Amino acid sequence: MEQQDFSAMHTEMRRFFATGATLDAAFRKAKLRGLAAAIRRREGDIMAALHDDLAKPPCEAYITEIVETLDAAEYYAARAAAFSRPRRVWPGRTILPAFCKVYPEPFGLALVLSPWNYPFQLSLIPLICAVAAGNCVVLKPSRESPATGRILQQLVEECFDSGHCRVVLDAPGAPGAAPEQTATALLSEAWDFIFYTGSPRVGHIIMESAARHLTPVCLELGGKSPVIVTEDADLAVAARRIAWGKMLNAGQTCVAPDYLLADAAILEELVERIREEFARQLGPDPIHSPDYGRIVSHAAFDRLCGLAERCGVGLIADRELLKIAPVIFRTDFASPALEDEIFGPLLPAIPYDCLDAALAYIRANPKPLACYLFTRNKGIEKRVLRELSFGGGCINDVALQASSSRLPFGGVGKSGMGRYHGCAGFDLFSNLKSVVHQWPTLDLPLRYPPYGKGRLRWLRRLLGDWSRRSPPGRGGWR
Ligand code: NAD
Repeated sequence: MEQQDFSAMHTEMRRFFATGATLDAAFRKAKLRGLAAAIRRREGDIMAALHDDLAKPPCEAYITEIVETLDAAEYYAARAAAFSRPRRVWPGRTILPAFCKVYPEPFGLALVLSPWNYPFQLSLIPLICAVAAGNCVVLKPSRESPATGRILQQLVEECFDSGHCRVVLDAPGAPGAAPEQTATALLSEAWDFIFYTGSPRVGHIIMESAARHLTPVCLELGGKSPVIVTEDADLAVAARRIAWGKMLNAGQTCVAPDYLLADAAILEELVERIREEFARQLGPDPIHSPDYGRIVSHAAFDRLCGLAERCGVGLIADRELLKIAPVIFRTDFASPALEDEIFGPLLPAIPYDCLDAALAYIRANPKPLACYLFTRNKGIEKRVLRELSFGGGCINDVALQASSSRLPFGGVGKSGMGRYHGCAGFDLFSNLKSVVHQWPTLDLPLRYPPYGKGRLRWLRRLLGDWSRRSPPGRGGWR
């Protein structure tokens, strides 16, 4: 099958961007408010699509997809103008009396490639950030969540000009078609920014494509996110929250607890409590619980069953319904469950005799997207925050760091690069243009040669002295 050609769309969008319409903060605000209103109007359809794609229970869809997206749209609509304003920066002693400002400006055309697991919010929140910053956007949702893809296309068509924002869906699977031909064709165009959420494997492909045009990228990837539980933790609360974080979207959450490291003294009790929580929250028949989602595809289902088999763990599963009941099992560091990101409702639990060993294991592996710690010990809390590097996390909870429209979100190392949400999301899609404003006539002769005798002494007295007194961090930064 021939590769799709997106060059006409690209040209139309470049033309729209060149009109300067998106530079007007009031225009962006109106578009984002319009999008929020459309999401409210279509809430039922969105929930139905999420149910079609992943059997998401309406409450879960509401909390993890709809509210977060609405919150982001409202947040950026309210702040688009303020974030766009020039920001004063203290010039530092070397260029006084000039003054400095940073002028945020949109990059231009942004490409957003989103995954299937939270197909609504992980598509629209990056789009919202890009629009707030004044960009034009092409969004390509995952073909694994086609119903949500269609709703996204309708919403974007309803709320934006075709030159401003577009949703491109995968062409229906023609026999022999390359599996990612739409994404591949899009990536062959020259974008001003690429925002990608998905697996580290595809992250490599995206970065290589971006390198051809030296396009900046944000990569929101995954990995193995540990949860550490110390001896003094409140086990009832820890068990409830860990079980909830693992069951959410049937474990197909990038910030889900991937594996559990618990003090050997409390591991057995914690494992038992988590098992009880699975049963309490989903009832005796989790496969048929209306409060529990499904695995995205047969391929993912088979992968998870294969992993369980290699770990010697029995599953309650139904291939026709694509459902796997959540399961926790005790294991050790040599387990196959510790090889790749699990991305499903299997939770390996490993005991540690001393915290040093647990922290050393995490440090020896790629930096995780998320890390969770359940403890009442402030010393341990400080130690974990100081000694471990990870994208974000929670103390005494799980997954919530991804839910705030204000807290910057992203990975580090193999779990990603770049951050969005909050002002970081606006800045991510902006070129922060740094400008020195010099006085037109005031012209200190000190910098010009001939320097002559004594100039160095003067410079030292003037600049060296100031270096001891200059105020730290002055300026208009948020
Ligand atoms: P994926 O990488 O398979 O797909 C994501 C997007 O990339 C889709 O739009 C897809 O069309 C596109 N894509 C896939 N293969 C491609 C290729 N060869 N060339 C170009 N584009 C291609 O990811 P997924 O399976 O949908 O998501 C699961 C992974 O994403 C997990 O690792 C998870 O941890 C991670 N994830 C991370 C975050 C985060 O915010 N950091 C959020 C959700 C998921």
